[in-house]
Amino acid sequence: MIFRQLVDDGSSTYTYLLGCPQTCEAILLDPVLEAVERDLAVLRALNLRLAFTLETHIHADHLSSAWVLRDRTGCQVAYPAIEMVACADVQVAEDQPFRFGHLTLLPLHTPGHTAGSSSYFFCQEEPPMLFTGDALLIDGCGRTDLQGGDAAVLYRSIYQKIFTLPDDTLVYPGHDYNQRRVSTVAQERARNQRLGNGKPIEEFVAIMADLNLPLPKKIDVAVAANRCCGRRQGCRAGVERELSA
Ligand code: FE
Repeated sequence: MIFRQLVDDGSSTYTYLLGCPQTCEAILLDPVLEAVERDLAVLRALNLRLAFTLETHIHADHLSSAWVLRDRTGCQVAYPAIEMVACADVQVAEDQPFRFGHLTLLPLHTPGHTAGSSSYFFCQEEPPMLFTGDALLIDGCGRTDLQGGDAAVLYRSIYQKIFTLPDDTLVYPGHDYNQRRVSTVAQERARNQRLGNGKPIEEFVAIMADLNLPLPKKIDVAVAANRCCGRRQGCRAGVERELSA
């Protein structure tokens, strides 16, 4: 697989480019609006055609570039079905492998950061790779106080669906605020300070209830826009433009 881990410094968001070497089809996982020109340049440099954008969840801290990339490249936009994003071309669900070129991602519904959060498991190569969005971060996890978040639900997602994957699975998070890029399931299961090493669910829930994090700066704009594939003017603008075309 062709693979790039791209970072948006403004939001410390990781965008992942996954490409099929046989068909030259690629996807961008969690692309960021401010980085759209960079992402298009990377695709061009690698001679890849963007087939899909794919989101792990509806982000509160940055705007997705999904609709811009659809406009610029003709790609399709994929979201977890549970997020009920009407402008998405593809609704992704846990029992439905997500295919592009000769590559397959297995979606795992891992709610708790948001109600609709998905992780994506790639196991056609060794070691396997897991893209966790904001469910499991390196030595941390996503906040659970917004958008249907629930700490107990997140704990169960991580213990039942992520920590049961093979030890050597590479964990690629949606964010890191300390420039760390990758971990493994074994390392997080043993050493994640929030919930690793068998920490009881009650302790984890108490830690999360005590975080008192400030709201993300862009939350008012980002959540509404990302429900419309990242379109700031809202979904109606897109519908009206398509109707008048
Ligand atoms: Fe998030």
